Amino acid sequence: MGVTRIVVAEDDVPIRDLLVHHLEGVGFVCESAPDGPAALRLARSGADVLLLDLGLPVLDGFEVVRVLRREGRDVPILVLTARSEEIDRVVGLELGADDYVGKPFSPREVVARVRALARRARLASNTAPVVLTYDRLEIDQAAREARVDGVAVGLKPREFALLLELAANPGVALSRASLLARVWGYDFEGDARTVDVHVRRLRAKLEDGAQLPPLVTTVHGFGYKFTRA
Ligand code: CA
Repeated sequence: MGVTRIVVAEDDVPIRDLLVHHLEGVGFVCESAPDGPAALRLARSGADVLLLDLGLPVLDGFEVVRVLRREGRDVPILVLTARSEEIDRVVGLELGADDYVGKPFSPREVVARVRALARRARLASNTAPVVLTYDRLEIDQAAREARVDGVAVGLKPREFALLLELAANPGVALSRASLLARVWGYDFEGDARTVDVHVRRLRAKLEDGAQLPPLVTTVHGFGYKFTRA
């Protein structure tokens, strides 16, 4: 099991330091974000939990959650909020956050809730089926291998990860930006062609090489989706 990365988005330095101190004290790896754009950038680069103050400069916490959810990112978010009227909005499901803690908070409570969110996220990712099967194609997550009629297709690691991401969401159009974030783990905004190049290679190997029917459909001006068998 690797490290658990927590993004601590809080502009109040003493509060942020206090949170980081307690989270690192139980073994989490923390990254600090002093404003909304930094929180977005760090959350997109594969954080396990985002601890998010609502009152952030430049882009507030509400906006940060909205952007992340609109991009289809499911990073667990624990919101910190100072005002009771904000709590009403958070609780009213207006926000796509997973949990919240009101200020002033007890650091121990924040740590317990972060830990619960991290554990829940890990369990969810562990319960995914190990082998996805679509007619003649098998996508084996444990072996990181795709097989057609039982024979390995010979995909590169990124090609496999891209195929897995698409096939795990059959019939769902995934944007290039979301594929970049999920498969490459970074925010390569300006480099969406990377996805196109890898899709082309996947198609060459699966359709031309292994003679499968078309599996990956282009969604023009948006991205790609895996065709249901
Ligand atoms: Ca604040």
